[in-house]
Amino acid sequence: MGCADAGPAEAAGAPVRFNHLSLGFPSPVILLDSKAQQTELEWISYPPNGWEEISGLDENYTPIRTYQVCQVMEPNQNNWLRTNWIEKGDAQRIFVELKFTLRDCNSLPGVVGTCKETFNLYYQETDSEVGRGLRENQYVKIDTIAADESFTQGDLGERKMKLNTELRIIGPLSKRGFYLAFQDVGACIALVSVKVYYKKCWSIIENLATFPDTVTGSEFSSLVEVEGMCVNDAEEEADNSPKMHCSAEGEWLVPIGKCICKAGFHQKGDACEPCGRGFYKSSSQDLQCSRCPAHSFNDREGSWRCDCEDGYYRALSDPPSVACTRPPSAPQNLVYNINQTAVTLEWSPPADTGGRNDVTYRVVCRRCSWEPEECVACGPNVGYSPAQSGLVETYVMVTDLLAHANYTFEVEAVNGVTDLSRTQSRVSVPAAPSQVREIINKKVQQRSIQLSWLEPQQPNGVIKEYEIKYYEKDQKDRIYSTVRSKSTSATVNNLKPSTAYVFQIRALTEAGYSNYSPQLEITTQEEATGGEQNPVIIIAVVAVAGTIILVFMVFGFIIGRRYALAVKFPGTKTYIDPETYEDPNRAVHQFAKELDASCIKIERVIGAGEFGEVCSGRLKLPGKRDVSVAIKTLKVGYTEKQRRDFLCEASIMGQFDHPNVVHLEGVVTRGKPVMIVIEYMENGSLDAFLRKHDGQFTVIQLVGMLRGIAAGMRYLADMGYVHRDLAARNILVNSNLVCKVSDFGLSRVIEDDPEAVYTTTGGKIPVRWTAPEAIQYRKFTSASDVWSYGIVMWEVMSYGERPYWDMSNQDVIKAIEEGYRLPAPMDCPPGLHQLMLDCWQKDRAERPKFDQIVGILDKMIRNPNTLKTPVGTCTRPISPLLDQSTPDFAAFRSVGEWLEAIKMERYRDNFTAAGYSSLESVARMSIDSSHGGLVFFRDYRSTPCFMLLCTSGEFHQCQTERAEVDVKEAGH
Ligand code: AMP
Repeated sequence: MGCADAGPAEAAGAPVRFNHLSLGFPSPVILLDSKAQQTELEWISYPPNGWEEISGLDENYTPIRTYQVCQVMEPNQNNWLRTNWIEKGDAQRIFVELKFTLRDCNSLPGVVGTCKETFNLYYQETDSEVGRGLRENQYVKIDTIAADESFTQGDLGERKMKLNTELRIIGPLSKRGFYLAFQDVGACIALVSVKVYYKKCWSIIENLATFPDTVTGSEFSSLVEVEGMCVNDAEEEADNSPKMHCSAEGEWLVPIGKCICKAGFHQKGDACEPCGRGFYKSSSQDLQCSRCPAHSFNDREGSWRCDCEDGYYRALSDPPSVACTRPPSAPQNLVYNINQTAVTLEWSPPADTGGRNDVTYRVVCRRCSWEPEECVACGPNVGYSPAQSGLVETYVMVTDLLAHANYTFEVEAVNGVTDLSRTQSRVSVPAAPSQVREIINKKVQQRSIQLSWLEPQQPNGVIKEYEIKYYEKDQKDRIYSTVRSKSTSATVNNLKPSTAYVFQIRALTEAGYSNYSPQLEITTQEEATGGEQNPVIIIAVVAVAGTIILVFMVFGFIIGRRYALAVKFPGTKTYIDPETYEDPNRAVHQFAKELDASCIKIERVIGAGEFGEVCSGRLKLPGKRDVSVAIKTLKVGYTEKQRRDFLCEASIMGQFDHPNVVHLEGVVTRGKPVMIVIEYMENGSLDAFLRKHDGQFTVIQLVGMLRGIAAGMRYLADMGYVHRDLAARNILVNSNLVCKVSDFGLSRVIEDDPEAVYTTTGGKIPVRWTAPEAIQYRKFTSASDVWSYGIVMWEVMSYGERPYWDMSNQDVIKAIEEGYRLPAPMDCPPGLHQLMLDCWQKDRAERPKFDQIVGILDKMIRNPNTLKTPVGTCTRPISPLLDQSTPDFAAFRSVGEWLEAIKMERYRDNFTAAGYSSLESVARMSIDSSHGGLVFFRDYRSTPCFMLLCTSGEFHQCQTERAEVDVKEAGH
């Protein structure tokens, strides 16, 4: 028999349960449970003396209804018991569980032959009840049921009846219902319970899909495939619809596919819930709702995306997960450079990229008539390199423009949301203001002039200030002074009476300076004369006049012999102090070309600058052949101030264009390291170069170098640039021995100069190279540069000797103050030393101008005879101080006689005017020091009047007269 072993879980061939499903054994659907019925069952029993319905108690003493039969004595028993009609519902496979006891025939005496130990189980399918008749042949046998263990041995050896449980399965069934029938053929049976049921897979939600109640398949081994239905707000995963399999045992097996919460919803347990406010879920594929990205919001639940805040946008290609962005701000620092019919525009990236990294630029070019409103697009004939729009780099060259036309350019920063907004992120090439209109009013006084003028016709922006530039018309040393004014009038004070001044005015806007207005000459009023004048003033005036006459005489002489006055014409390029720019970056880009770092190849380190290494390398610009360059780098970790100071040199150097001024190739400010790229000067700095080649050059060669330096300085002075640190160490020499002025900057250059020391006037000054007035009261002018130039001449002629040798700075200051001047270096032509001495005139107005210096040197080069060194003179002294000697005044009776003797009688009046009427007073002009055969006479009471006389026992030369007076010749 053994069928009863086939418990549900061990059913042969049952599919392996899917591991992650642990649904437990589902409860079956009960169709009949005899035990559950308390009233009579009223099944049909036939014949009537067969099966009998009896009330009893089960093992738990619960009242139950049982059927019993025990006709074991009589042969040929055929007792049927039939249940009521059981409607099968949707069941296909029916389980029949029987609990019964069965007497062991052996335990019944005298029943041998008639007693049976089995009974038969039948069923009959019908679509409805068929009445109480019972026809055996209509029943289909299910099985013969035997007891597994009819009896068990009790503890006391008595035999106890055992309750048997047998399970049989019927199906597939095709009709609406059925009857079960029990045939007894002579056994002693108590049918304790009959339970009929079928199995179902009960509705569940799995993977967000609902699977309905599902009746198991009819076959023992069959699996019923069931499609799941996504729960609310969920959808089937693409190509992966949810399915499960209902096993014969009523278990859900093998889940396939799944549902996922739709966009805007997320899974919570077996359901999909809307994302909360401020959250979104853009796709069913996302698991979680996310917080709205930056600059977006939503105030509804269940959102698949967030809306952008006002002014923020999402490009079509932007996924909902990215922040809303906005158009960039306008590009910055737009600068331009015109080269014939091409304009190069350069700018810095916008301060605000709008939160995106797809910023590009486009250029809007318009050609305008001189009426500002009338502008038209430039059209296709204009070229843009590299392109007009979609520019990634921050520069463009616009070519093929019409000459003499008026253009406006705008550079627009564009990003992925620019087209969604109406914001314009443009910056225009700022037009400089037009010229200040005529100077309309002037109030002229003795020492001041008040000017007022009209604002430019086209200011093209807010005028920040006006700059009034003026100079004394007849002054040889054309020193420009400036006055600034925020309004259209200004008063210029501290002018000299009866003096002609030349004025020019220009306006400053964000875009830069306008051109200067035409020159206007105004003469201050005459000094009032009259009996009421203060006698002290008269004396002062006379003294000044006397002094002026003397100075004039001296200069008149120099001018007469040596040079024509340099004249600055209006329109001459003027140096612009980068510090006047609010944004120093603008200054850099105004004057220096931004180079692409990829064009620069650094080869080796050649020196150390204050801000970083100086390297040599090559620069290869597109379309040009590569050139050797020096590259000054800004070391990493610099402060903003260091960067500014570093680039300041480029802002200055970039303004210059002269063969004797070091040429700036450009700067790299947009990459790291920040670099200044300069033409390469193969022989490095002049001082070291000369020391290396001591005595190896001809005088002409040296003078040629000096001429170059003077020409470079003339150019700088004409530009209005004062160098302040002119010294051989700041001159660079190239392979052709061309000397170029270098080391530009503002205060910083001097600050960095190792020669610079702090002075009592504050600030650091390279004392040995600096004019006394610059040391004393920081009066730096082109005239003080001339002094420094004299020192450079001395350095050159002495092959890099240190000026004033090992004297201390203090001693140098004192010696200069006392009239001491450097003697001629060894083998130095006297003319050159004379020029040095001229440069070292105490009165700066007496010093030659660079233009004159260039002229003098040119003349010397043309007439090499003038460069011959007279034997025995002007040779380098062994010891700096020689014996002092005094002119022998005892030989003269009066000043006039003495002056006559030294052929200087024409200065008699000057001496008288200055108060030197007696020989005693002349003798009081103390002899301060002498050196190299020279004696310095200096009068402590009157400033300009000192005379330098050469002595080699006798008067030999007078500085104020330059080799004109030969006292020996005069028969002294
Ligand atoms: P600076 O910072 O200008 O004083 O430069 C430091 C050193 O680098 C100088 O003393 C030179 O030896 C060298 N140097 C600077 N500029 C150049 C250049 N244009 N060509 C060759 N060497 C240079």
